[in-house]
Amino acid sequence: MARPLLVSAILEHGALQFGSQQVISRETHGPLHSYTFKALAHRSKQLANALLGLGLKPGSVVGSIAWNNYRHLEAYYGVSGTGMVMHTCNPRLHPDQLAYIINHAEDEVILFDSSFAPLVKAVVNHCPKVRHWICLADESHTPSIEGVHVHSYESFIRDQSALLDWPDLDENLGAALCYTSGTTGNPKGVLYSHRAIVLSALSACLPNVLDISSKETVLPVVPMFHINAWCLPYASLMAGAKLVLPGPKLDGASLYELMESEKVTLSAGVPTIWMGLVNHLEQHNLSFSTMRRTGVGGSAMPKALIAKFNEVYKVDVRHGWGMTETTAVATISNIGGEEASWTDALRHELVAKQGKSVFGIEIKIVDEQGQTLPRDGQAQGELMVRGQWIVENYHNSEQTALVDGWFPTGDIATIDEDGVMQIRDRTKDVIKSGGEWISSIELENAAAAHPHVAMAAVIGVKHPKWDERPLLLIVRKSQDFADKHAILAFLSERVAKWWVPDDVVFVDSLPVGGTGKVQKSELRIQYGSIFSE
Ligand code: AMP
Repeated sequence: MARPLLVSAILEHGALQFGSQQVISRETHGPLHSYTFKALAHRSKQLANALLGLGLKPGSVVGSIAWNNYRHLEAYYGVSGTGMVMHTCNPRLHPDQLAYIINHAEDEVILFDSSFAPLVKAVVNHCPKVRHWICLADESHTPSIEGVHVHSYESFIRDQSALLDWPDLDENLGAALCYTSGTTGNPKGVLYSHRAIVLSALSACLPNVLDISSKETVLPVVPMFHINAWCLPYASLMAGAKLVLPGPKLDGASLYELMESEKVTLSAGVPTIWMGLVNHLEQHNLSFSTMRRTGVGGSAMPKALIAKFNEVYKVDVRHGWGMTETTAVATISNIGGEEASWTDALRHELVAKQGKSVFGIEIKIVDEQGQTLPRDGQAQGELMVRGQWIVENYHNSEQTALVDGWFPTGDIATIDEDGVMQIRDRTKDVIKSGGEWISSIELENAAAAHPHVAMAAVIGVKHPKWDERPLLLIVRKSQDFADKHAILAFLSERVAKWWVPDDVVFVDSLPVGGTGKVQKSELRIQYGSIFSE
Protein backbone atom coordinates (compact mmCIF):
# COMPACT_ATOMS: atom_id res chain seq x y z
CA MET A 1 0.00 0.00 0.00
CA ALA A 2 2.89 2.33 0.58
CA ARG A 3 4.26 1.95 -2.96
CA PRO A 4 4.99 5.44 -4.27
CA LEU A 5 2.91 7.05 -7.01
CA LEU A 6 5.41 7.61 -9.83
CA VAL A 7 5.33 8.86 -13.41
CA SER A 8 7.51 5.91 -14.51
CA ALA A 9 4.77 3.52 -13.33
CA ILE A 10 2.34 5.13 -15.79
CA LEU A 11 4.67 4.43 -18.69
CA GLU A 12 5.35 0.87 -17.57
CA HIS A 13 1.65 0.23 -17.12
CA GLY A 14 0.87 1.60 -20.59
CA ALA A 15 3.65 -0.44 -22.24
CA LEU A 16 2.84 -3.69 -20.43
CA GLN A 17 -0.96 -3.60 -20.52
CA PHE A 18 -1.58 -1.72 -23.76
CA GLY A 19 1.75 -2.24 -25.55
CA SER A 20 0.29 -2.18 -29.05
CA GLN A 21 -1.83 0.94 -28.47
CA GLN A 22 -0.79 3.78 -30.76
CA VAL A 23 0.66 7.24 -30.42
CA ILE A 24 0.14 9.31 -33.59
CA SER A 25 2.08 12.53 -33.92
CA ARG A 26 2.01 15.37 -36.39
CA GLU A 27 5.53 16.62 -36.93
CA THR A 28 6.97 19.92 -38.03
CA HIS A 29 8.53 18.03 -40.95
CA GLY A 30 7.26 15.02 -42.85
CA PRO A 31 4.18 12.82 -42.62
CA LEU A 32 2.29 11.71 -39.51
CA HIS A 33 4.45 9.63 -37.20
CA SER A 34 2.96 6.53 -35.67
CA TYR A 35 4.28 4.04 -33.11
CA THR A 36 3.16 2.00 -30.11
CA PHE A 37 3.23 2.52 -26.34
CA LYS A 38 5.88 -0.21 -26.28
CA ALA A 39 8.11 1.75 -28.66
CA LEU A 40 7.45 4.91 -26.64
CA ALA A 41 8.70 3.16 -23.49
CA HIS A 42 11.77 1.84 -25.33
CA ARG A 43 12.79 5.26 -26.61
CA SER A 44 11.98 7.01 -23.31
CA LYS A 45 14.49 4.70 -21.64
CA GLN A 46 17.06 5.41 -24.34
CA LEU A 47 16.58 9.12 -23.66
CA ALA A 48 16.88 8.56 -19.89
CA ASN A 49 20.16 6.66 -20.39
CA ALA A 50 21.48 9.37 -22.72
CA LEU A 51 20.71 12.09 -20.14
CA LEU A 52 22.29 10.06 -17.33
CA GLY A 53 25.30 9.67 -19.64
CA LEU A 54 25.68 13.46 -19.67
CA GLY A 55 26.07 13.33 -15.90
CA LEU A 56 22.55 14.53 -15.09
CA LYS A 57 21.13 13.16 -11.85
CA PRO A 58 17.81 12.98 -10.04
CA GLY A 59 16.86 16.57 -9.38
CA SER A 60 18.58 17.92 -12.52
CA VAL A 61 16.26 20.04 -14.64
CA VAL A 62 15.68 19.48 -18.36
CA GLY A 63 13.80 22.17 -20.26
CA SER A 64 11.63 21.74 -23.35
CA ILE A 65 10.48 24.27 -25.91
CA ALA A 66 8.23 22.06 -27.95
CA TRP A 67 4.87 21.30 -29.54
CA ASN A 68 2.73 18.31 -28.64
CA ASN A 69 4.65 15.55 -30.41
CA TYR A 70 6.09 12.11 -29.75
CA ARG A 71 9.63 13.16 -28.85
CA HIS A 72 8.24 15.63 -26.33
CA LEU A 73 6.18 12.74 -24.91
CA GLU A 74 9.33 10.61 -24.60
CA ALA A 75 10.87 13.47 -22.64
CA TYR A 76 7.83 13.62 -20.33
CA TYR A 77 8.53 10.03 -19.30
CA GLY A 78 12.29 9.69 -19.81
CA VAL A 79 13.13 12.82 -17.80
CA SER A 80 10.66 12.45 -14.91
CA GLY A 81 11.07 8.67 -14.74
CA THR A 82 14.71 9.02 -13.68
CA GLY A 83 13.89 11.62 -11.01
CA MET A 84 14.94 14.56 -13.17
CA VAL A 85 12.52 17.45 -13.59
CA MET A 86 10.77 18.13 -16.90
CA HIS A 87 10.52 21.90 -17.26
CA THR A 88 8.09 22.70 -20.06
CA CYS A 89 8.71 26.23 -21.37
CA ASN A 90 6.05 28.26 -23.13
CA PRO A 91 7.50 29.13 -26.56
CA ARG A 92 5.24 32.15 -26.85
CA LEU A 93 7.00 33.92 -24.00
CA HIS A 94 9.09 36.95 -24.82
CA PRO A 95 12.77 35.85 -25.16
CA ASP A 96 13.68 37.83 -22.01
CA GLN A 97 11.06 35.94 -20.02
CA LEU A 98 12.09 32.65 -21.60
CA ALA A 99 15.71 33.24 -20.57
CA TYR A 100 14.48 34.24 -17.11
CA ILE A 101 12.59 30.98 -16.53
CA ILE A 102 15.39 28.81 -17.99
CA ASN A 103 17.85 30.46 -15.58
CA HIS A 104 15.48 30.49 -12.64
CA ALA A 105 14.71 26.79 -13.07
CA GLU A 106 18.42 26.05 -13.60
CA ASP A 107 17.84 24.01 -16.74
CA GLU A 108 20.96 22.06 -17.73
CA VAL A 109 19.65 20.72 -21.03
CA ILE A 110 17.12 22.21 -23.42
CA LEU A 111 15.14 20.05 -25.85
CA PHE A 112 13.60 22.16 -28.60
CA ASP A 113 11.63 21.78 -31.81
CA SER A 114 13.41 23.00 -34.92
CA SER A 115 10.65 25.56 -35.50
CA PHE A 116 11.78 27.28 -32.30
CA ALA A 117 15.40 27.64 -33.46
CA PRO A 118 15.01 31.47 -33.80
CA LEU A 119 13.88 31.62 -30.18
CA VAL A 120 16.81 29.46 -29.08
CA LYS A 121 19.16 31.76 -31.00
CA ALA A 122 17.70 34.72 -29.09
CA VAL A 123 18.30 33.19 -25.64
CA VAL A 124 21.35 30.99 -26.11
CA ASN A 125 23.84 33.60 -24.90
CA HIS A 126 21.74 34.46 -21.87
CA CYS A 127 21.44 30.99 -20.37
CA PRO A 128 24.90 30.19 -18.95
CA LYS A 129 23.79 27.09 -17.02
CA VAL A 130 22.46 25.24 -20.07
CA ARG A 131 25.13 22.72 -21.05
CA HIS A 132 23.40 21.03 -23.98
CA TRP A 133 20.93 22.16 -26.63
CA ILE A 134 19.16 19.23 -28.29
CA CYS A 135 16.90 19.61 -31.30
CA LEU A 136 13.92 17.24 -31.30
CA ALA A 137 14.66 16.04 -34.83
CA ASP A 138 16.94 13.85 -36.88
CA GLU A 139 20.29 15.12 -38.13
CA SER A 140 18.89 16.47 -41.38
CA HIS A 141 16.41 18.77 -39.59
CA THR A 142 18.73 19.93 -36.83
CA PRO A 143 19.72 23.56 -37.37
CA SER A 144 23.13 24.94 -36.54
CA ILE A 145 23.19 27.84 -34.12
CA GLU A 146 26.19 30.12 -33.85
CA GLY A 147 28.20 29.74 -30.69
CA VAL A 148 26.78 26.38 -29.53
CA HIS A 149 26.87 22.77 -30.56
CA VAL A 150 23.32 21.59 -31.23
CA HIS A 151 22.75 17.83 -30.87
CA SER A 152 20.17 16.05 -32.92
CA TYR A 153 17.80 14.12 -30.64
CA GLU A 154 17.95 11.07 -32.88
CA SER A 155 21.72 10.82 -32.79
CA PHE A 156 21.64 11.61 -29.04
CA ILE A 157 19.54 8.55 -28.21
CA ARG A 158 20.34 6.20 -31.12
CA ASP A 159 23.12 4.13 -29.57
CA GLN A 160 21.69 4.13 -26.08
CA SER A 161 20.50 1.01 -24.34
CA ALA A 162 16.82 0.69 -23.48
CA LEU A 163 17.75 -1.33 -20.41
CA LEU A 164 16.92 0.67 -17.34
CA ASP A 165 15.22 0.04 -14.03
CA TRP A 166 13.34 3.18 -13.14
CA PRO A 167 14.42 4.28 -9.66
CA ASP A 168 12.02 3.95 -6.73
CA LEU A 169 11.67 7.62 -5.95
CA ASP A 170 9.96 9.52 -3.20
CA GLU A 171 6.57 10.37 -4.68
CA ASN A 172 6.80 13.89 -3.26
CA LEU A 173 9.79 14.77 -5.42
CA GLY A 174 9.31 17.14 -8.34
CA ALA A 175 8.56 15.48 -11.70
CA ALA A 176 7.60 18.49 -13.81
CA LEU A 177 7.83 22.25 -13.66
CA CYS A 178 5.76 24.93 -15.36
CA TYR A 179 5.82 28.70 -14.98
CA THR A 180 2.77 30.94 -14.80
CA SER A 181 2.16 33.15 -17.82
CA GLY A 182 3.41 36.14 -15.82
CA THR A 183 1.33 38.96 -17.27
CA THR A 184 2.42 40.99 -14.25
CA GLY A 185 5.90 40.61 -12.78
CA ASN A 186 8.17 37.68 -13.40
CA PRO A 187 6.68 34.26 -14.10
CA LYS A 188 6.53 31.97 -11.06
CA GLY A 189 7.36 28.27 -11.20
CA VAL A 190 5.09 25.50 -10.01
CA LEU A 191 6.85 22.21 -9.30
CA TYR A 192 4.52 19.24 -9.71
CA SER A 193 5.32 16.17 -7.62
CA HIS A 194 5.03 12.64 -9.00
CA ARG A 195 2.18 12.11 -6.56
CA ALA A 196 0.29 15.20 -7.76
CA ILE A 197 0.62 14.15 -11.40
CA VAL A 198 -0.45 10.56 -10.85
CA LEU A 199 -3.46 11.54 -8.76
CA SER A 200 -4.51 14.27 -11.15
CA ALA A 201 -4.16 11.95 -14.17
CA LEU A 202 -6.21 9.26 -12.41
CA SER A 203 -8.84 11.88 -11.73
CA ALA A 204 -8.96 12.90 -15.41
CA CYS A 205 -9.91 9.31 -16.31
CA LEU A 206 -13.02 9.30 -14.07
CA PRO A 207 -16.38 9.16 -15.87
CA ASN A 208 -17.50 12.48 -14.36
CA VAL A 209 -14.27 14.19 -15.33
CA LEU A 210 -13.08 13.35 -18.87
CA ASP A 211 -14.06 9.66 -18.89
CA ILE A 212 -10.89 8.31 -20.51
CA SER A 213 -10.67 4.59 -21.23
CA SER A 214 -9.10 2.31 -23.81
CA LYS A 215 -12.19 2.94 -25.97
CA GLU A 216 -11.11 6.52 -26.57
CA THR A 217 -8.80 8.23 -29.01
CA VAL A 218 -7.56 11.35 -27.26
CA LEU A 219 -6.29 14.49 -28.99
CA PRO A 220 -4.86 17.00 -26.51
CA VAL A 221 -4.87 20.38 -28.24
CA VAL A 222 -4.03 21.92 -24.90
CA PRO A 223 -0.26 22.32 -25.10
CA MET A 224 2.19 20.05 -23.34
CA PHE A 225 4.04 23.25 -22.36
CA HIS A 226 1.09 24.50 -20.32
CA ILE A 227 -0.15 22.75 -17.14
CA ASN A 228 1.02 19.33 -18.36
CA ALA A 229 -1.59 19.35 -21.15
CA TRP A 230 -4.12 18.78 -18.33
CA CYS A 231 -2.26 15.53 -17.60
CA LEU A 232 -3.74 13.93 -20.75
CA PRO A 233 -0.36 12.53 -21.88
CA TYR A 234 -0.30 10.63 -18.57
CA ALA A 235 -4.00 9.76 -18.34
CA SER A 236 -4.03 8.28 -21.86
CA LEU A 237 -1.29 5.79 -20.98
CA MET A 238 -2.96 4.94 -17.69
CA ALA A 239 -6.21 4.22 -19.46
CA GLY A 240 -4.77 2.64 -22.60
CA ALA A 241 -6.32 5.28 -24.87
CA LYS A 242 -4.87 5.99 -28.30
CA LEU A 243 -3.06 9.33 -28.19
CA VAL A 244 -3.02 11.77 -31.12
CA LEU A 245 -0.60 14.70 -30.87
CA PRO A 246 -1.33 17.65 -33.18
CA GLY A 247 2.17 19.19 -33.42
CA PRO A 248 2.32 22.77 -34.64
CA LYS A 249 -0.92 22.89 -36.67
CA LEU A 250 -3.73 24.08 -34.45
CA ASP A 251 -5.99 25.82 -36.99
CA GLY A 252 -9.54 24.56 -37.53
CA ALA A 253 -8.84 22.85 -40.88
CA SER A 254 -5.77 20.93 -39.65
CA LEU A 255 -7.44 19.82 -36.43
CA TYR A 256 -10.55 18.67 -38.25
CA GLU A 257 -8.51 16.68 -40.74
CA LEU A 258 -6.58 14.96 -37.93
CA MET A 259 -9.73 14.27 -35.91
CA GLU A 260 -11.34 12.59 -38.89
CA SER A 261 -8.30 10.66 -40.17
CA GLU A 262 -7.40 9.30 -36.71
CA LYS A 263 -11.01 8.81 -35.58
CA VAL A 264 -10.55 11.01 -32.54
CA THR A 265 -13.32 10.65 -29.93
CA LEU A 266 -12.15 13.01 -27.19
CA SER A 267 -10.26 16.29 -27.30
CA ALA A 268 -9.37 19.15 -24.98
CA GLY A 269 -8.36 22.77 -25.43
CA VAL A 270 -9.15 26.43 -24.88
CA PRO A 271 -12.33 28.06 -26.28
CA THR A 272 -10.42 30.04 -28.96
CA ILE A 273 -9.34 26.74 -30.54
CA TRP A 274 -12.93 25.49 -30.64
CA MET A 275 -14.08 28.78 -32.17
CA GLY A 276 -11.60 28.23 -35.01
CA LEU A 277 -12.78 24.67 -35.43
CA VAL A 278 -16.47 25.59 -35.48
CA ASN A 279 -15.85 28.35 -38.03
CA HIS A 280 -14.16 25.80 -40.26
CA LEU A 281 -17.04 23.32 -39.86
CA GLU A 282 -19.62 26.01 -40.60
CA GLN A 283 -17.82 27.41 -43.62
CA HIS A 284 -17.42 23.99 -45.22
CA ASN A 285 -20.64 22.44 -43.99
CA LEU A 286 -18.83 19.60 -42.21
CA SER A 287 -19.67 17.33 -39.32
CA PHE A 288 -17.72 14.94 -37.08
CA SER A 289 -17.71 11.18 -37.67
CA THR A 290 -16.27 10.07 -34.33
CA MET A 291 -15.73 13.08 -32.01
CA ARG A 292 -18.15 12.80 -29.09
CA ARG A 293 -16.67 14.67 -26.14
CA THR A 294 -14.43 17.64 -25.51
CA GLY A 295 -12.88 19.20 -22.45
CA VAL A 296 -12.74 23.01 -22.54
CA GLY A 297 -11.09 25.41 -20.15
CA GLY A 298 -8.45 28.06 -19.70
CA SER A 299 -11.07 30.74 -20.22
CA ALA A 300 -14.85 30.70 -20.12
CA MET A 301 -16.61 28.74 -22.86
CA PRO A 302 -19.56 30.83 -24.10
CA LYS A 303 -22.97 29.19 -23.75
CA ALA A 304 -23.72 29.74 -27.44
CA LEU A 305 -20.67 27.67 -28.41
CA ILE A 306 -21.60 24.93 -25.94
CA ALA A 307 -25.06 24.79 -27.52
CA LYS A 308 -23.57 24.56 -31.00
CA PHE A 309 -21.21 21.75 -30.10
CA ASN A 310 -23.96 19.89 -28.35
CA GLU A 311 -26.91 20.31 -30.65
CA VAL A 312 -25.35 20.79 -34.08
CA TYR A 313 -22.23 18.64 -33.78
CA LYS A 314 -23.42 16.16 -31.11
CA VAL A 315 -20.33 16.73 -29.00
CA ASP A 316 -20.64 16.63 -25.21
CA VAL A 317 -18.80 19.60 -23.67
CA ARG A 318 -17.06 19.26 -20.30
CA HIS A 319 -16.16 22.75 -19.11
CA GLY A 320 -13.26 22.67 -16.68
CA TRP A 321 -11.45 25.20 -14.55
CA GLY A 322 -7.83 25.03 -13.50
CA MET A 323 -4.65 27.05 -13.47
CA THR A 324 -0.90 26.50 -13.60
CA GLU A 325 -1.04 26.22 -9.81
CA THR A 326 -3.57 23.34 -9.92
CA THR A 327 -1.57 20.77 -12.02
CA ALA A 328 -4.61 20.14 -14.26
CA VAL A 329 -8.38 20.11 -13.89
CA ALA A 330 -9.72 21.21 -10.49
CA THR A 331 -13.43 21.65 -11.26
CA ILE A 332 -15.54 20.47 -14.18
CA SER A 333 -19.11 20.81 -15.33
CA ASN A 334 -20.96 17.77 -16.43
CA ILE A 335 -24.51 16.64 -16.98
CA GLY A 336 -25.52 14.00 -14.44
CA GLY A 337 -28.57 11.73 -14.35
CA GLU A 338 -31.07 14.27 -13.16
CA GLU A 339 -30.00 17.10 -15.48
CA ALA A 340 -30.25 14.86 -18.54
CA SER A 341 -34.01 15.49 -18.58
CA TRP A 342 -33.67 19.28 -18.40
CA THR A 343 -34.35 21.50 -21.39
CA ASP A 344 -31.41 22.08 -23.74
CA ALA A 345 -31.17 25.70 -22.64
CA LEU A 346 -30.93 24.79 -18.95
CA ARG A 347 -28.33 22.13 -19.61
CA HIS A 348 -26.19 24.52 -21.62
CA GLU A 349 -26.46 27.07 -18.86
CA LEU A 350 -25.18 24.51 -16.37
CA VAL A 351 -22.27 23.53 -18.61
CA ALA A 352 -21.37 27.20 -19.09
CA LYS A 353 -20.50 27.23 -15.37
CA GLN A 354 -17.17 25.76 -14.32
CA GLY A 355 -18.73 22.90 -12.38
CA LYS A 356 -18.03 20.85 -9.31
CA SER A 357 -14.65 20.28 -7.73
CA VAL A 358 -13.27 16.84 -8.57
CA PHE A 359 -12.42 14.40 -5.77
CA GLY A 360 -9.16 15.48 -4.14
CA ILE A 361 -9.88 19.18 -4.56
CA GLU A 362 -11.88 21.45 -2.24
CA ILE A 363 -13.10 24.94 -3.09
CA LYS A 364 -14.60 27.86 -1.19
CA ILE A 365 -15.21 31.57 -1.76
CA VAL A 366 -14.23 34.31 0.66
CA ASP A 367 -14.90 38.03 1.07
CA GLU A 368 -12.20 40.71 1.30
CA GLN A 369 -11.69 39.93 5.01
CA GLY A 370 -11.17 36.23 4.26
CA GLN A 371 -14.57 35.19 5.65
CA THR A 372 -16.13 32.20 3.92
CA LEU A 373 -19.20 33.18 1.91
CA PRO A 374 -22.35 31.06 1.57
CA ARG A 375 -22.83 28.47 -1.17
CA ASP A 376 -26.01 30.06 -2.48
CA GLY A 377 -25.12 30.83 -6.09
CA GLN A 378 -25.43 34.57 -5.30
CA ALA A 379 -22.58 35.60 -3.01
CA GLN A 380 -19.44 36.36 -4.99
CA GLY A 381 -15.95 36.24 -3.59
CA GLU A 382 -12.42 35.16 -4.29
CA LEU A 383 -12.15 31.49 -5.14
CA MET A 384 -9.86 29.56 -2.78
CA VAL A 385 -8.68 26.04 -3.54
CA ARG A 386 -6.80 23.30 -1.74
CA GLY A 387 -6.10 19.68 -2.49
CA GLN A 388 -3.66 16.98 -3.38
CA TRP A 389 -2.42 18.62 -6.56
CA ILE A 390 -2.49 22.30 -5.61
CA VAL A 391 0.70 24.35 -5.29
CA GLU A 392 1.97 25.10 -1.77
CA ASN A 393 4.85 27.40 -2.59
CA TYR A 394 6.37 28.60 -5.83
CA HIS A 395 9.58 27.00 -7.06
CA ASN A 396 12.67 28.17 -5.19
CA SER A 397 10.58 30.36 -2.92
CA GLU A 398 10.57 29.89 0.83
CA GLN A 399 7.32 31.74 1.21
CA THR A 400 4.07 29.82 1.27
CA ALA A 401 1.64 30.64 -1.52
CA LEU A 402 -1.26 29.68 0.74
CA VAL A 403 -3.52 31.65 3.07
CA ASP A 404 -4.64 29.47 6.00
CA GLY A 405 -3.85 26.40 3.91
CA TRP A 406 -5.84 27.54 0.85
CA PHE A 407 -4.49 28.86 -2.46
CA PRO A 408 -6.04 32.26 -3.38
CA THR A 409 -6.77 32.01 -7.10
CA GLY A 410 -7.42 35.64 -8.02
CA ASP A 411 -10.70 34.53 -9.61
CA ILE A 412 -14.08 35.86 -8.50
CA ALA A 413 -16.68 33.11 -8.30
CA THR A 414 -20.00 31.95 -6.92
CA ILE A 415 -20.71 28.43 -5.64
CA ASP A 416 -24.29 27.15 -5.40
CA GLU A 417 -25.86 24.70 -2.96
CA ASP A 418 -25.04 21.78 -5.28
CA GLY A 419 -21.36 22.74 -5.30
CA VAL A 420 -21.45 24.14 -8.84
CA MET A 421 -18.86 26.91 -9.16
CA GLN A 422 -19.10 29.74 -11.65
CA ILE A 423 -16.22 32.06 -12.48
CA ARG A 424 -17.58 35.61 -12.69
CA ASP A 425 -14.26 37.24 -13.51
CA ARG A 426 -10.59 37.60 -12.75
CA THR A 427 -10.11 40.09 -9.92
CA LYS A 428 -8.16 42.27 -12.36
CA ASP A 429 -10.76 42.05 -15.17
CA VAL A 430 -13.94 42.67 -13.22
CA ILE A 431 -15.43 46.07 -14.09
CA LYS A 432 -16.25 48.41 -11.23
CA SER A 433 -18.97 50.78 -12.31
CA GLY A 434 -20.49 53.23 -9.83
CA GLY A 435 -19.36 51.04 -6.94
CA GLU A 436 -20.97 47.88 -8.37
CA TRP A 437 -19.36 44.96 -10.21
CA ILE A 438 -19.98 43.99 -13.81
CA SER A 439 -18.75 40.59 -14.99
CA SER A 440 -16.79 40.87 -18.23
CA ILE A 441 -17.21 37.11 -18.77
CA GLU A 442 -20.99 37.31 -18.64
CA LEU A 443 -21.06 40.18 -21.14
CA GLU A 444 -18.72 38.27 -23.48
CA ASN A 445 -20.93 35.22 -23.16
CA ALA A 446 -24.00 37.24 -24.07
CA ALA A 447 -22.27 38.91 -27.04
CA ALA A 448 -20.96 35.58 -28.34
CA ALA A 449 -24.56 34.46 -28.85
CA HIS A 450 -25.12 37.12 -31.53
CA PRO A 451 -25.09 35.51 -34.99
CA HIS A 452 -22.59 38.03 -36.42
CA VAL A 453 -20.07 37.70 -33.58
CA ALA A 454 -17.06 35.41 -34.02
CA MET A 455 -15.23 36.51 -30.85
CA ALA A 456 -15.94 39.06 -28.12
CA ALA A 457 -13.93 40.67 -25.34
CA VAL A 458 -15.06 43.16 -22.72
CA ILE A 459 -12.77 45.42 -20.73
CA GLY A 460 -13.36 48.05 -18.09
CA VAL A 461 -12.37 51.50 -19.32
CA LYS A 462 -11.78 54.53 -17.09
CA HIS A 463 -14.84 56.73 -16.97
CA PRO A 464 -15.05 60.27 -15.53
CA LYS A 465 -18.37 59.67 -13.78
CA TRP A 466 -18.70 55.91 -13.13
CA ASP A 467 -15.06 55.05 -12.41
CA GLU A 468 -15.15 52.33 -15.09
CA ARG A 469 -17.54 51.41 -17.88
CA PRO A 470 -17.53 48.34 -20.12
CA LEU A 471 -16.23 48.50 -23.68
CA LEU A 472 -17.05 45.64 -26.03
CA LEU A 473 -14.61 44.57 -28.75
CA ILE A 474 -15.91 42.31 -31.45
CA VAL A 475 -14.42 40.22 -34.21
CA ARG A 476 -17.17 39.85 -36.79
CA LYS A 477 -17.98 36.76 -38.83
CA SER A 478 -18.35 38.98 -41.88
CA GLN A 479 -16.96 42.48 -42.43
CA ASP A 480 -20.28 43.64 -43.94
CA PHE A 481 -21.92 43.75 -40.56
CA ALA A 482 -21.32 47.10 -38.81
CA ASP A 483 -24.38 47.72 -36.70
CA LYS A 484 -23.28 48.65 -33.17
CA HIS A 485 -26.84 49.47 -32.16
CA ALA A 486 -28.09 46.02 -33.09
CA ILE A 487 -25.42 44.49 -30.84
CA LEU A 488 -26.24 46.78 -27.93
CA ALA A 489 -29.98 46.15 -28.35
CA PHE A 490 -29.27 42.42 -28.39
CA LEU A 491 -27.32 42.73 -25.15
CA SER A 492 -29.89 44.91 -23.42
CA GLU A 493 -32.37 42.01 -23.72
CA ARG A 494 -29.90 39.69 -21.99
CA VAL A 495 -28.19 41.67 -19.22
CA ALA A 496 -29.12 44.40 -16.75
CA LYS A 497 -29.48 47.82 -18.42
CA TRP A 498 -26.51 49.33 -16.56
CA TRP A 499 -24.31 46.45 -17.72
CA VAL A 500 -24.78 47.29 -21.42
CA PRO A 501 -21.38 48.47 -22.73
CA ASP A 502 -20.94 52.16 -23.49
CA ASP A 503 -19.46 51.40 -26.88
CA VAL A 504 -18.61 48.66 -29.37
CA VAL A 505 -15.40 48.53 -31.39
CA PHE A 506 -15.12 46.20 -34.36
CA VAL A 507 -11.62 44.74 -34.67
CA ASP A 508 -10.02 42.32 -37.14
CA SER A 509 -8.59 40.14 -34.39
CA LEU A 510 -8.06 40.06 -30.65
CA PRO A 511 -4.60 39.69 -29.12
CA VAL A 512 -4.32 36.08 -27.97
CA GLY A 513 -1.52 35.11 -25.58
CA GLY A 514 0.70 32.07 -25.32
CA THR A 515 -1.95 29.92 -23.72
CA GLY A 516 -4.79 30.88 -26.04
CA LYS A 517 -6.38 33.52 -23.83
CA VAL A 518 -7.37 37.00 -24.93
CA GLN A 519 -4.77 39.42 -23.58
CA LYS A 520 -6.96 41.98 -21.90
CA SER A 521 -3.90 43.81 -20.58
CA GLU A 522 -3.03 44.72 -24.18
CA LEU A 523 -6.58 45.83 -24.90
CA ARG A 524 -6.52 48.01 -21.78
CA ILE A 525 -3.34 49.70 -23.01
CA GLN A 526 -4.87 50.38 -26.43
CA TYR A 527 -8.40 51.35 -25.44
CA GLY A 528 -8.02 52.22 -21.74
CA SER A 529 -8.73 55.94 -22.15
CA ILE A 530 -11.32 55.82 -24.92
CA PHE A 531 -14.08 57.22 -22.64
CA SER A 532 -11.99 60.05 -21.23
CA GLU A 533 -10.41 61.25 -24.49
P1 AMP B 1 -3.21 29.78 -16.31
O1 AMP B 1 -2.49 29.59 -15.06
O2 AMP B 1 -2.45 30.57 -17.34
O3 AMP B 1 -3.72 28.50 -16.86
O4 AMP B 1 -4.49 30.66 -16.02
C1 AMP B 1 -5.44 30.28 -15.05
C2 AMP B 1 -6.61 31.20 -15.11
O5 AMP B 1 -7.39 30.99 -16.29
C3 AMP B 1 -7.62 30.98 -13.99
O6 AMP B 1 -7.22 31.58 -12.79
C4 AMP B 1 -8.87 31.62 -14.57
O7 AMP B 1 -8.84 33.03 -14.44
C5 AMP B 1 -8.75 31.28 -16.03
N1 AMP B 1 -9.58 30.11 -16.34
C6 AMP B 1 -9.20 28.83 -16.44
N2 AMP B 1 -10.25 28.05 -16.78
C7 AMP B 1 -11.32 28.87 -16.90
C8 AMP B 1 -12.70 28.68 -17.23
N3 AMP B 1 -13.19 27.50 -17.55
N4 AMP B 1 -13.50 29.77 -17.24
C9 AMP B 1 -13.02 31.00 -16.94
N5 AMP B 1 -11.74 31.24 -16.63
C10 AMP B 1 -10.90 30.19 -16.61
